Amino acid sequence: MIAPVLPTYARAPVAFEKGEGPWLFDGTGERYLDFGAGIAVCALGHAHPRLVAALEGQARRLWHTSNLYGIPGQQELAERLVEASFADTVFFTNSGLEAMECAIKMARKYHSHNGNPERWRIVTFEGAFHGRSLATIAAAGQEKLVKGFGPMPEGFDHVPFGDHDALRAAIGDETAAILIEPVQGEGGIRPVPYQCLRGLRALCDEHGILLIHDEIQCGMGRTGKLFAHEWAETGAPDILASAKGIGGGFPLGACLATERAASGMTAGSHGSTYGGNPLAMAVGNAVMAELTAPGFMDHVVEMAGLLRQRLAELADTYPDLIEEVRGEGLMLGIRVRGEGTNGALVNAARERRLLLVPAGDNVVRILPPLVIEAEHVNRAVDTLGDALSSLRASASVAAK
Ligand SMILES: *Cc1c(COP(=O)(O)O)cnc(C)c1O
Repeated sequence: MIAPVLPTYARAPVAFEKGEGPWLFDGTGERYLDFGAGIAVCALGHAHPRLVAALEGQARRLWHTSNLYGIPGQQELAERLVEASFADTVFFTNSGLEAMECAIKMARKYHSHNGNPERWRIVTFEGAFHGRSLATIAAAGQEKLVKGFGPMPEGFDHVPFGDHDALRAAIGDETAAILIEPVQGEGGIRPVPYQCLRGLRALCDEHGILLIHDEIQCGMGRTGKLFAHEWAETGAPDILASAKGIGGGFPLGACLATERAASGMTAGSHGSTYGGNPLAMAVGNAVMAELTAPGFMDHVVEMAGLLRQRLAELADTYPDLIEEVRGEGLMLGIRVRGEGTNGALVNAARERRLLLVPAGDNVVRILPPLVIEAEHVNRAVDTLGDALSSLRASASVAAK
């Protein structure tokens, strides 16, 4: 008999009732160190006092009016995002895939609005993840996402990650945009080198096409800058999809764009019932206030340095299990050896009360809240060491 909850998730056998900072508590009061942060969502940890106050305050005043009327919180958050980024304008959504849908529609509309309706195809990269709608699974194109769901929406041309020749060859007269995650998340924490981000910018300018960044996972301070592409300095996109960390755990996404890229998005061209509703805006503004506070990103960079260094030590101790540590800031991945070892390591860590997230390419993702302290880093790495040592012991038993 099918479960009352549609069984589309392979869930770990644990459920949580309470959270505080980087900690989660299960029903028996057992404490877990959360280095997955709800897959890079809880950027400020759990039950952050400023976010709780913002949500509670708004909940007592007003929940929803619809976008038929002005929503002052949207104005405020859009101004904050514009002020802090390449963007001139923002569309608010409830999730990452909706921010991606807005980005895709905007790129197509830009060209049709500017007299080039034949330019509607988007070049994307293998191993990417952009969400679970039909358009966003078609954009990613991976077999495991699209299989069984019938003909996919047309208009996405996939090229291998890092293949510059294939990329150039894929750009044609119908190309509207290039879409890329500056750091691939689900694909296994694969950062795009800074010079490639700059190269993509130049390539788009050369061909008169738009550059779209999916910073749903790698943005909002995750790498130690508000947006990951800022590290590349001149690699800014025309359109950027944000979500996850932007709401700190409240469902919120945003599509950011330059005035030029957004030129086709006139009244009536796009919309959402809930997108940018007062509750989401109250939380989003509180998240942005924290992220842009003096010293916040310095702290992320400092913790990232410590975590990176401690993981390098682990890699030296367990070269038989760890192939590589990679990533940017507090978006790190451990590529392990042996098919399926990533899942085994995530399970072994969870049994030791440390939460991590598996990813593609046999990678274990480490995505802690950005507000962790050195004690949390050290504890997580020690626990990870225990988990690795248990995997090594069971591997040597199996070999005998
Ligand atoms: C999570 C994610 C998405 C999809 O976001 P949802 O909120 O689940 O729709 C899209 N792109 C990237 C890079 C993501 O990590």
